[in-house]
Amino acid sequence: MIVSVTMNPSVDISYPLSTLVLDDINRCDKVRKTAGGKGLNVTRVIHQMEAEVISTGLLGGVLGEFIRENLSSEGIKHDFSNIQGDTRNCIAILHDNYQQTEILEAGPTISTEELTSFEETFLTLATSSDVATLSGSLPKGVSKDYYSRLLSLLSNTDIKVILDTSGESLKSALESPVKPYAIKPNSDELQALLGEEVSTDYTNLSDILSHSLFDGVPLIMVSLGKDGAFAKFDESFYRVEIPSIPVKNPVGSGDSTVAGLAIGLSKRKSIEDVLKYAMTLGMLNAMEDTTGCVDKTKFDDLFNQVNVYKL
Ligand code: ADP
Repeated sequence: MIVSVTMNPSVDISYPLSTLVLDDINRCDKVRKTAGGKGLNVTRVIHQMEAEVISTGLLGGVLGEFIRENLSSEGIKHDFSNIQGDTRNCIAILHDNYQQTEILEAGPTISTEELTSFEETFLTLATSSDVATLSGSLPKGVSKDYYSRLLSLLSNTDIKVILDTSGESLKSALESPVKPYAIKPNSDELQALLGEEVSTDYTNLSDILSHSLFDGVPLIMVSLGKDGAFAKFDESFYRVEIPSIPVKNPVGSGDSTVAGLAIGLSKRKSIEDVLKYAMTLGMLNAMEDTTGCVDKTKFDDLFNQVNVYKL
């Protein structure tokens, strides 16, 4: 089983408007509300691929209930810890020829007791899983090195942890004594992590991934949008080439890529196939309108068009 963690979920609201008028009333008759957050995208894609997954993290208030009901109605297993605060809304106004104006609530502040209670749930779920995914930002009240804490809780287990976060929380996890099994930065996240401009040519990426910051992390997959990916596994480097596809909405493709890594690792596939699973699901998400959504029937055809080259 795969356990997927979302520490800072949200109910994502999208308001499509032909024009956004400031300082006036805007009426919208096509509102869409979905369970959001990177980890929930990961969960949904794993479930759509019919692999076994359970979703956990922190939820509170009526929006927390909305997310629970949403997951249940899709047949997705979940076991979130309750918090006193209210799960947040994130609003995207889609207007004036593909402009997107977003309002992101900071969300609830988490207490120490709430974290302790979550850790019990997490540990119970993790001990019956072979892969854990930790995705996204951390809520207020949770220190930036919290993912290191979760990694340390699993230090005596064989669970492979895939960490998909950015900035300080990624850096502190890479510097912690217990390392994640895999990370999946995109080129912007890699750049922010290293504090320098990153050229995505393969020689440069090989040099960068050999940086001591990544020591002890067996699998690093740098996703490169339409250009596929570049990966390091143990001491070897891999270039992953993808076909050209009809893109509808690439938002959430990184989360879908993480879902592919998790499924591939959980099925104990070869490294080449793990990378192919990841890229195929990244592409399948980009081919759909809905974020964190894939069409399983297209998987085999696309999988066979992904090429992995060991350098
Ligand atoms: P993130 O969403 O984290 O920024 P990427 O944009 O690199 O991640 O996308 C992850 C993966 O999704 C890519 O490596 C690729 O497989 C697929 N993908 C994303 N955008 C495109 C695109 N425009 N064309 C083809 N594949 C895409």
